[in-house]
Amino acid sequence: MKKIRGIYVELVDAFNEAARSVYPEEFLSMIREDDGIISEMVLIPGTVYGDSHSFLSDWMAPVDFSLVGTVHSHPGNSNEPSEDDLQYFSNYGGVHIITCIPFDRGSWKAYNSKGETLDLELFTDS
Ligand SMILES: [Zn+2]
Repeated sequence: MKKIRGIYVELVDAFNEAARSVYPEEFLSMIREDDGIISEMVLIPGTVYGDSHSFLSDWMAPVDFSLVGTVHSHPGNSNEPSEDDLQYFSNYGGVHIITCIPFDRGSWKAYNSKGETLDLELFTDS
């Protein structure tokens, strides 16, 4: 996998928007990178909101190698990974983003497969 160096701020807005729209359910999506920058959400058909962890256990091997991880929302005030989150981070590797209330540009954090915080630089698409 390519080294991930950043994320597009438009994507941050998009996943927060999505998280807000399914609240109080959890939002979950795969994320894709382009040239080391996380650029896109990839919604998997059949994703059941609010049942993210069981969905993830069905995702065995991504066929698309530009998929680098996941983003999901917490319907609370903590963007810290839960025990379950830490378990699937370590199973799947990659980059995992958690956003929480109030679902804005300051409410998300990115983690590596060990659950350590990653510093992602913000890029703009334009
Ligand atoms: Zn979680």
